[in-house]
Amino acid sequence: MNIGIVGLGLIGGSLGLDLRAAGYQVLGVSRQDKVCRDAIARGVVDDAAVDMALLAAADVVFVCTPISAIASTVQQLIPHLSADAIITDVGSVKKSVVEAITPLWANFVGGHPMAGTAESGLEAAVQNLFVGKAYVLTPVATTPPAAVKTVEEIVRSLEAKIYHCSPENHDKAVAWISHLPVMVSATLIDACISETDPVVLELAQQLASSGFRDTSRVGGGNPELGLMMARYNRVELLQSLQQYRHCLDEFISQIEQEDWNGLHSKLTATQSKRSQFC
Ligand code: NAP
Repeated sequence: MNIGIVGLGLIGGSLGLDLRAAGYQVLGVSRQDKVCRDAIARGVVDDAAVDMALLAAADVVFVCTPISAIASTVQQLIPHLSADAIITDVGSVKKSVVEAITPLWANFVGGHPMAGTAESGLEAAVQNLFVGKAYVLTPVATTPPAAVKTVEEIVRSLEAKIYHCSPENHDKAVAWISHLPVMVSATLIDACISETDPVVLELAQQLASSGFRDTSRVGGGNPELGLMMARYNRVELLQSLQQYRHCLDEFISQIEQEDWNGLHSKLTATQSKRSQFC
């Protein structure tokens, strides 16, 4: 099976490395000649070009461009594809992507690997990024079952855990566990740097250790990714942020009122519930 990848960045490049290792023939498309040459040299793809015509031979194409460019990438891709080719994407938001692509190409399966790092670009691509991680597929009523089965077979070769859900439920769920944490973590850093006493600020920076490193990690990542989450999952993100503000107000109120029993109950509940998420 020939697999095409458009967008040889962190996710596209990492997919290329693993899919080649799994025995697939991988064809890559980048906008830059240099990235094509580097991708071939690094063994990310078997062949690469800046021209989408390379993907005429592809059976399945993974669109790995930023969310804002997925629909335009598919539009450029379609004239070059064979009629029975399958398109799938890796975008972190699904409702708007699935709504835009489904009318353009029937053999489309929305997808989202729940794996990543704070880096971007081909140089950030790594092997085994998807091993043991969730990989969500969001077929809709019109999605051909055979296309879903083929994408599942490829995803299984990445050793990822496959989940199915509607694009709407995907966007609600990721608002809670991915997009809200980015905003909470970013606002944590924002709050800390608002300390006005330079002596205290410098001391805090010197004392920060593993707890701060863990809680600030996603807020200190690629700003473009956070911006995409907010722009393309705006409604669901706002709902989760408002609920978060409500929870924060409850904690503040318990501390103000010295309601130590109430606070202890909440912290006991969060301690026991965390294991249900990770
Ligand atoms: P990335 O490292 O920046 O890679 C995206 C690649 O797409 C770039 O290297 C670039 O390759 C190409 N590209 C950039 N702008 C473009 C444009 N306007 N039109 C066409 N191509 C463009 O980003 P990524 O983290 O791999 O993200 C790619 C997709 O994966 C996004 O849709 C994102 O939502 C999704 N995703 C990301 C993560 C994560 O943690 N990073 C996790 C899961 C899913 P060339 O310059 O070589 O053309």
